[in-house]
Amino acid sequence: MFEVSVEESFAAGHALRGYRGKCENPHGHNYKVRITLNGDKLDNIGLLFDFKDLKGAMNEIIDRLDHQYLNDLEPFKVLNPSAENMAKYFFDETNRLLRDRTQGRVNVKKVKVWETDTTTATYFE
Ligand SMILES: [Zn+2]
Repeated sequence: MFEVSVEESFAAGHALRGYRGKCENPHGHNYKVRITLNGDKLDNIGLLFDFKDLKGAMNEIIDRLDHQYLNDLEPFKVLNPSAENMAKYFFDETNRLLRDRTQGRVNVKKVKVWETDTTTATYFE
């Protein structure tokens, strides 16, 4: 199997509903996201997926969230904007974008979201 990963950062605010503690109140994070793809076949020039195109797909998703209050955006109006749920959101959205572009040759393997330098959540299937 081959794997490729890219990382990007963005800033956003959120508040965790039902949480007892400081994270119940609105506050911001400089999020970092790493998306990892895998597949067993390379394309005709030896790439699993062009890093530039993966960053492009990732930035389509980030553009919706950057400098926004996440609790005001779908699906986080209902779903708590935890790092865990954000990791699954990036996983599902990236998979949707990639499926069209690679006809199933490449899949998202996992997504890791950093809320701080020392705290991460990962989603994979
Ligand atoms: Zn937080």
